[in-house]
Amino acid sequence: MIQHSGFYIHGKVCEPRPRKTFTSLNPATSETVATVCQVSVEDIEDAVSSSRAGFAEWSEMPAAEKARIMQRAAVLLRARTDELAELEARDTGKPLQEALQIDIPTAADAIEYFAGLTTTLHGLHHDLGTEQFFYTRREPLGICAGIGAWNYPLQIACWKSAPALACGNTMIFKPSELTPLTAIRLAEIYTEAGLPDGVFNVVQGDGMVGQRLVRHPAISKVSFTGSVTTGQQVMIDAASYHKPVTLELGGKSPLIILDDAELDVAADTAVQANFLTQGEVCTQGSRVFVHHSLQDDFLRRVKMRTEKLVVGNPLDRKTRIGSLISERHLQKVLSYIQQARSAGAKLITGGHRVTDGLLAKGCFVAPTVFADCTDEMPQVKDEIFGPVMSVLTFTDEKEVLNRANASEYGLAAGVFTRDISHAHRMASQLQAGVCWINSWGATPVEMPFGGFKASGLGYENGLEALRQYTKVKSVYVELGRQKLSILDNGSTADR
Ligand code: NAP
Repeated sequence: MIQHSGFYIHGKVCEPRPRKTFTSLNPATSETVATVCQVSVEDIEDAVSSSRAGFAEWSEMPAAEKARIMQRAAVLLRARTDELAELEARDTGKPLQEALQIDIPTAADAIEYFAGLTTTLHGLHHDLGTEQFFYTRREPLGICAGIGAWNYPLQIACWKSAPALACGNTMIFKPSELTPLTAIRLAEIYTEAGLPDGVFNVVQGDGMVGQRLVRHPAISKVSFTGSVTTGQQVMIDAASYHKPVTLELGGKSPLIILDDAELDVAADTAVQANFLTQGEVCTQGSRVFVHHSLQDDFLRRVKMRTEKLVVGNPLDRKTRIGSLISERHLQKVLSYIQQARSAGAKLITGGHRVTDGLLAKGCFVAPTVFADCTDEMPQVKDEIFGPVMSVLTFTDEKEVLNRANASEYGLAAGVFTRDISHAHRMASQLQAGVCWINSWGATPVEMPFGGFKASGLGYENGLEALRQYTKVKSVYVELGRQKLSILDNGSTADR
């Protein structure tokens, strides 16, 4: 059934007066999921005015009260897991099973975690002797803009809004126009939980809407998730207004399997690291470096596991590989597969569009594994954001570290070995914001998450996120009489 959806300003969905609309498609079926109202320039101004009013109330509300509202929102969100997961699966094409297990619970985790931290925010007191001291105040920034990508729409909205709100800010959130639906549900949930009107507004539209938010003088901070190119533009635009940015961008992450690794575990994990959400994951471990002595055994295991993954209707609980987000993105992924072949990579499995039965209407690609890859091949260098694993071999540790680090990206990395000291030594040398040891992909909300190099700036999650949404004011207090050196003539008689 086609839904009508809008944007969400000051505690309600936009009025159904005639407006420009766009459609949100289910990429697995090409059917319209919803027609969505696009914001106008005036609507953005309304969102900002509403957010200003929301800030006046929210920033002054006692922390314990804020925490209670956010806790209620987390409970309501969990209670609506089935409905939200299905909506997310229809909007993104990802398997429902994943949305149930990952997207919705991790979104709720973020609200719960930051709700708990709300009451812990404090400054410090520092004595400077007996007559002077200073203290610091951790103050909210004001109105923050959150701009999201399409791969984890609800999770991204929560990872951004929860710390922002916990610190007393308000947020205007713009989801990707490809996946506009669950952000509106989140706004409704916040309102139902008791969030004052204007504290979380959602605007809908394309990149120009995002740019307007970034350039709006009343918006104090931007937290952006998306591609490196757009992230750079966001940083340039934000710089003109001296506003801080958090950038969560792309990656091309190395997963390293040393010669003493437990091969079954490494193979299981490499498959998960590459094919979760059809490879549309920023931390995808798409450069798999395997010690040359293990290559054949590793490839046999990976091939067997990959060919068991069910490509199918995202709403079917057995499906493990859903639809890519759009026909355009599918063509990009297929073009990288073609380039890999032309460059001499050996196709182990997959490598084609899946068009069986009803899948022909969607954007399905078989999970694909290439071996005999080299560092210069296009599918090894560039972020594809699709189900394509490139396997490379290495002989010694120094070599693999150099090659793993020889990328403009630095989002994630991983090492598989039974020698835990060795693993820590490697983790210390990998140029990545997140390093996993004998694991891949876990992003618990307590753990700071952010990229090095072109992969980003700043952090989401963990205590680090609170620093992204507050500013520190130092207050110096004189209890005695200030010593004024400019007036100091050596005599105290005239004071
Ligand atoms: P994108 O094209 O950069 O778009 C991201 C968001 O920015 C969308 O909402 C987009 O709006 C908006 N936008 C476009 N131009 C803008 C501008 N000039 N100013 C402000 N906003 C603008 O990225 P995407 O294709 O949606 O997402 C895929 C990328 O996200 C991949 O590179 C992936 O690695 C990265 N990602 C990173 C993380 C992380 O945590 N590091 C997580 C998820 C995804 P419209 O789409 O509506 O035009």
